[in-house]
Amino acid sequence: MAKMPSPSVTVKYTKLFINGEFVDSVSGRTFETFDPRTGDSITSVAEATKEDVDVAVKAARNAFDHGPWPRISGYERGRIMNKYADLVEQHLEELAVLETLDSGKPLAGCQYYEIPEGIKGLRYYAGWADKIHGLTLKMSGPYQGYTLQEPIGVVGQIIPWNAPLLMFFNKISPALACGCTIVIKSAEQTPLTAFYAAQLAKEAGIPPGVLNVLSGFGEIAGAAMSKHMDIDKISFTGSTEVGRLIMEASAKSNLKPVTLELGGKSPLVIMDDADVEEAIKIAHMAVYANMGQVCCAGSRVFVQEGIYDEFVKKAVERAKKQMIGDPFLPGVEHGPQIDKAQFDKILEYIEFGKKEKATLLTGGQIWGDRGFYIEPTIFCDVKDTMKIAQEEIFGPVMSILKFKSIEEVIERGNKTMYGLAAGILTKNIDVANRFSRALRVGVIWINCFLVIDKDCPFGGFKMSGIGRESCIQGLQSYLQVKSVICPLQESPWL
Ligand code: ADP
Repeated sequence: MAKMPSPSVTVKYTKLFINGEFVDSVSGRTFETFDPRTGDSITSVAEATKEDVDVAVKAARNAFDHGPWPRISGYERGRIMNKYADLVEQHLEELAVLETLDSGKPLAGCQYYEIPEGIKGLRYYAGWADKIHGLTLKMSGPYQGYTLQEPIGVVGQIIPWNAPLLMFFNKISPALACGCTIVIKSAEQTPLTAFYAAQLAKEAGIPPGVLNVLSGFGEIAGAAMSKHMDIDKISFTGSTEVGRLIMEASAKSNLKPVTLELGGKSPLVIMDDADVEEAIKIAHMAVYANMGQVCCAGSRVFVQEGIYDEFVKKAVERAKKQMIGDPFLPGVEHGPQIDKAQFDKILEYIEFGKKEKATLLTGGQIWGDRGFYIEPTIFCDVKDTMKIAQEEIFGPVMSILKFKSIEEVIERGNKTMYGLAAGILTKNIDVANRFSRALRVGVIWINCFLVIDKDCPFGGFKMSGIGRESCIQGLQSYLQVKSVICPLQESPWL
């Protein structure tokens, strides 16, 4: 294994950020965050429990009920958000190093894609902040009516570890634009960049209490947020299992609306007429991007029988060329999985694949002698009923399935509990259109995959979630409509 580069970064912020200040947790408890390259501890950070959630919600409530953020003009909120984006841009290099250290994601991906996308999100929604308005209603009686689009209130946001800072900005940007106040909890595996981003929010001029950033465990701090009576909405990204718990907690507390962005088992369909070289590139990226830790990964690769053998051979050749190693090294595409639990879970799925008699063509092994690296893995001869074709692995495992006709693949593509995304590679627009209409998923990619844009709604059908993020739909989920009606005096028009 190549010598590990030591990144030159000092972890500056490790405490909870509440009401504009970094503070210890009420209990004084801390927990460690680990380097996925080695499994060694990086540092310890404050651990939020129910009491800290209460303090943070109180600050957010006060900022919402009495503070300036929901009351200033949209223009002013947008101006501050743009300033925030500028500051994140100025600190991008340090943030990228911190993100790679905490998450094991290849550094270039953080520098050139994820953090710039986060910045884009801030600017995109900064642009919306002064364009939020309601309707004038033409009522049937002698009344005047109009609607106000008001911020939903104090929002709780719970994010995962697979794209920590990008998720952070994806969540906070629309909520800030609408004038909401926020309590956001990072994933316990990756608390570091959210704290750094909290400091920059303060420098940008986001008032105290508007953005509160907690670190802590899901079952403790996350659960306390989900059932909190003074949180008006929860937005969550993570597993379907936890999404269900969050919805239950809402049902049993104050019926807060929930936005859930959950798991997937997305089909990528490659028709006989597709360009095979291009298909290999797209399928490789669809499965192995971020070491397979992507909710909308194209982890079921359906290949039509005419090009099946050629595709399988070339997919294996490409997977073997994947540059695996320390995510700080230039050129490395494939770093470690996030932690021991995920690492063990993925290896277990690989064993299931073998036991269920799928053919393991490449990979399936641990890479290196420490940390949580797993080689890019390919199974072919995969059947729809196998565990590796039904369950979300969240790791670098491609399952290749053979099919004959578009009718058949539509039927099989829909046969999971998930409905996040699907892709089709074909030169035939009629086939692509037919597929797009028939798949019960939130996003369809034609001749591309994993194209995610701020101006394009994202979210799932079925057990992949509720609600949409990004675009105007992402904004609307932080607003609620108030109707205002008043009588009209007699007028010549009535
Ligand atoms: P994964 O299985 O990929 O780690 P999770 O859904 O468990 O994904 O975690 C995503 C986020 O949900 C994390 O911030 C985690 O702390 C949080 N979380 C986990 N369990 C709960 C829970 N019971 N209630 C609320 N949040 C939770």
